[in-house]
Amino acid sequence: MTDFEISILGGTGGPFENSTQCFIIRSTHNDESVRLICVDGGVGLGSIAAMLRLDPNKRIVESLYENEEEPVEKYVDSTVLSQTTRGFSLAVTRHLEGSIVQQTMKLYQNIGEYYITHPHMDHVAGMIMNSPAIYEPLVPSRKYIKGLPFTIGPLKDFIFNDIIWPQLSNKLLGRLDLVTLSSRESHNSLSIPEWNIIPFEVYHGSKVSDLSSQVSSSVYIITNTRTNNSIVVCGDLEKDHEDPNEPRLLCQLWSYLANNIPLKNLKAIVIECSNSLSIDERRLFGHLSSNKLLDELQTLRDKYGSSSGLRDLKIIVSHVKMTYSEKDPRLTILDELRTLAHEIPGLESLIFSIAVQGYTFTV
Ligand SMILES: [Zn+2]
Ligand SMILES: [Zn+2]
Repeated sequence: MTDFEISILGGTGGPFENSTQCFIIRSTHNDESVRLICVDGGVGLGSIAAMLRLDPNKRIVESLYENEEEPVEKYVDSTVLSQTTRGFSLAVTRHLEGSIVQQTMKLYQNIGEYYITHPHMDHVAGMIMNSPAIYEPLVPSRKYIKGLPFTIGPLKDFIFNDIIWPQLSNKLLGRLDLVTLSSRESHNSLSIPEWNIIPFEVYHGSKVSDLSSQVSSSVYIITNTRTNNSIVVCGDLEKDHEDPNEPRLLCQLWSYLANNIPLKNLKAIVIECSNSLSIDERRLFGHLSSNKLLDELQTLRDKYGSSSGLRDLKIIVSHVKMTYSEKDPRLTILDELRTLAHEIPGLESLIFSIAVQGYTFTV
């Protein structure tokens, strides 16, 4: 049984601005009304419009490296392919009519909440620029932007401040609310009330101007309270430094998962792997590389302590940075992850795929 539909509006970490991180997530249990949430908002309306125009029968991915297009099989594990659609699912598109712009705005109307992992541009730019469409007279909507204090504070102070962008969150307008969440405190989604959502603060490197000052990001654990199935959707993150007095933040996240979510209910982890093995470790800048991601998955394996390891767990890799290289870095990273995991006990059967823009994964 499937629970979650994850549409990849944007699945890279830049620097190209048209594919930065944004996922639209829907419950597969409510086909009647289309209620959607977003995790991050790097891109938005432009990507929805592009996705609505895709031919679902053409199973290709825009690559722009060795070839302009590549077959999707190169990016998505063969066991996941049958549960993967190019474009949105029929459940989302069958309610839409009119021109592409009308369909796009209608779909946008159905997004009730944005769960933002951190306020970096590649995670919020689309959401900000799209926000005037909340007030579109024929398809108005009510939206909530949610996040931990280090996300919501800066969005209020530095973005929706009538200088960088109009203060569309002003109470007099009454259609956009910025909501501050607390780390590790669960709440139910307003759009999809059967979903319980827990934000977790994680480490995202240090400030350029002050190396002793931490940059934070978030991971969201989304659980369907009826089926108890969960997905984990991560923002940018890096392994934080060992502190003798307190387990590192990522370690606490893996412990939480192992203690609270049986492995059979963990349907997928969407996690960043910005860089390939070739990256100089001093240049990670708050991100993971293939070997660092596998280190974390080994910690998760240890926390679960299951004799069969992380058997058949789906890992959807996002936020790959588009680098100046011959080969598509997403393919390089996928290859590294699969090859290395094959040699690590308990990680051999992990199912790795890339969060390819324009595709919808059902898990
Ligand atoms: Zn990012
Ligand atoms: Zn970031």
